[in-house]
Amino acid sequence: MNILVCVSQVPDTTTRINVAADGKSMDPAGVKFILNPYDELAVEEGLRLRDKHKGEVTVITVGADSAKEALRQALAMGADKGILVKADKQDSFQVAEMLAAAIMPLNPDLILLGKQSIDFDGMEMAPMLSELLNLPCATVAVGLTIDGTTAKAEKEVEGGREVISLTMPCIIAAQKGLNDPRYPSLPNIMKAKQKPIQEIVGTPSAARTAIVGMTKPDKKRANKIVKADGDANAAAHELARLLHEEAKVI
Ligand SMILES: Cc1cc2nc3c(=O)[nH]c(=O)nc-3n(C[C@H](O)[C@H](O)[C@H](O)COP(=O)(O)OP(=O)(O)OC[C@H]3O[C@@H](n4cnc5c(N)ncnc54)[C@H](O)[C@@H]3O)c2cc1C
Repeated sequence: MNILVCVSQVPDTTTRINVAADGKSMDPAGVKFILNPYDELAVEEGLRLRDKHKGEVTVITVGADSAKEALRQALAMGADKGILVKADKQDSFQVAEMLAAAIMPLNPDLILLGKQSIDFDGMEMAPMLSELLNLPCATVAVGLTIDGTTAKAEKEVEGGREVISLTMPCIIAAQKGLNDPRYPSLPNIMKAKQKPIQEIVGTPSAARTAIVGMTKPDKKRANKIVKADGDANAAAHELARLLHEEAKVI
């Protein structure tokens, strides 16, 4: 099976982010970058499917030279090769267009993504690719099985699970719970340095969105008190929701 995994490089969740002098972008000074955590799930799923069904896993990213580091992390997990689509400042649609252009000639059987990148939280790359490549797509996947040319994705929906079947090739965006991503071993980190990374120059169309301003959250809103008001159960649920959906720590 020819599996393609889209990965993005994002600031480490523990990094202190500052807005750059232009007031419209993130100041990269002192920021540690990592492989997007949801993309680790996508890479892991790709590796498991490759090992089961044979084939290879290619990881692809759109970004500057420094984004190669995210590819190396995915290669250290076990991916076979990488593709860097070199590009500068881009919005999500331009990224999707460049990904689609690079992916189309590769004819993958399966395209895996994270459900969202934790920096811009767009959650739009999978649906955009679906439209641009005219392929079926399942978002927030917490389960995936492949049987011949049919993929079955279990999706997280409000209050439950939904199972859908997709004709392959198809696009699947990974949600927490899909699997437990492996930690790269030291020998695999060393091996990853020798794995091939192909470089392509991305040619974006004109941007359709522009960032007008970027600000840090209001410090006064940094603390939140969840009142129990006699219903500790409801308060605990609300706290768990806030930690999951807003603080994104669980
Ligand atoms: C070179 C470069 C420069 C940028 N400059 C700016 C800037 O100046 N200002 C700004 O606000 N934003 C910038 N961005 C961010 C960009 O606008 C998008 O927001 C980002 O690439 C996609 O994030 P998203 O939150 O929309 O993705 P989501 O839709 O949340 O991501 C879902 C999944 O899509 C895949 N994916 C996302 N991004 C990429 C990628 N780049 N390559 C491969 N797979 C990906 C991953 O699997 C991810 O888990 C830049 C991006 C790039 C690549």
